Amino acid sequence: MTTTETYGPYGGRYVPETLIPALDELTEAWAEALADPAYLAEVEHLGRTYTGRPSPITLAPRFAPGKRLYLKREDLNHTGAHKINNALGQVVLAKRLGKSRIIAETGAGQHGVATATACARFGLECVVFMGSEDMRRQAPNVERMHLMGATVVPVEFGTKTLKEATSEAIRDWITNVETTHYVIGSCVGPAPYPEIVRELQAVIGREAREQLLEVEGALPDVVVACVGGGSNAIGMFAGFMDDAGVRLIGVEAAEAASLGGGRTGVLHGSRSSILADSDGQIADAHSISAGLDYPGVGPEHAYLRDIGRAEYIPCTDEQALDAFQRLSRTEGIIPALESSHALAVIDDIDAEYIAVCLSGRGDKDLAEVLAALGRTS
Ligand SMILES: *Cc1c(COP(=O)(O)O)cnc(C)c1O
Repeated sequence: MTTTETYGPYGGRYVPETLIPALDELTEAWAEALADPAYLAEVEHLGRTYTGRPSPITLAPRFAPGKRLYLKREDLNHTGAHKINNALGQVVLAKRLGKSRIIAETGAGQHGVATATACARFGLECVVFMGSEDMRRQAPNVERMHLMGATVVPVEFGTKTLKEATSEAIRDWITNVETTHYVIGSCVGPAPYPEIVRELQAVIGREAREQLLEVEGALPDVVVACVGGGSNAIGMFAGFMDDAGVRLIGVEAAEAASLGGGRTGVLHGSRSSILADSDGQIADAHSISAGLDYPGVGPEHAYLRDIGRAEYIPCTDEQALDAFQRLSRTEGIIPALESSHALAVIDDIDAEYIAVCLSGRGDKDLAEVLAALGRTS
């Protein structure tokens, strides 16, 4: 791993000069941490005693009759999604760097909650940037962050969602880089972030591979995950990357399909496949799930698409809503709207033995779902 590692033509660092020393420092600290048994042991211990790892796998026979569909239950993690794996790992890393202040951007609020949680646990100051539209859609998560002592800064420009919150977080980091670590919530951003987030989420795929081998004695035909920035997907895929026989399928929101409908460009510090017009102007993504409502995606996914190792398919809001209700009714598990996108395509996949990353739980989405279904809560 080098400081300039890219994924084919993707990745890199497209940031102001002032951030380069901080990215160099982070790259070095990360390499040292990865080689330090004490860091790995602390992250593993937190996972086991705080997050609730390993998360189980659950067979879903009523949801997918005639198939062997396994759900990797990241919804059962403390704070309700996979985001905590990354937040804890990065906050422990920030402590090693001697940073006392943590900033983060958040869309659905899950990454903000995960970061606020990790900061409360370690007594660090936490500032979370969040689009005001997302604050409205995800009010319970805003309250959670407040309860855990974080400051939530509303971002009022543009579409008032994740894209603008990310720009605002980068601006803060440029100003306060000496004291502050920026906890990016997905496998996006300038190097070394995509690499760090991938490694911290790879625990999902590592566990899933071992658990599936144990119950089935074989690897799955297909592994599926939803893709916003791409962190739960890359973490899940990481476990099966070298198993050539395992198909990897990422599911994007149809109107936020940076991989299916994007073009090569630069967004938030790295080159990837992004939603933009021919002038490079970033397009407005749309999804019913705030966590997928982002016009960019991690550079490694763009690379995996290009080399044909992973496939990426779209899913509409309606399909996701159907899957949300169907998993609730057939299995007694209310999935996050994001994860519902991955569930929605299962019927169309021509394979019997499938593993899906259930990236989070759906409690946070109840108001949004009821409104979409024309009911009130
Ligand atoms: C944030 C989030 C996502 C999307 O982010 P990725 O980086 O693509 O994983 C998906 N599912 C849940 C539950 C989330 O909170």
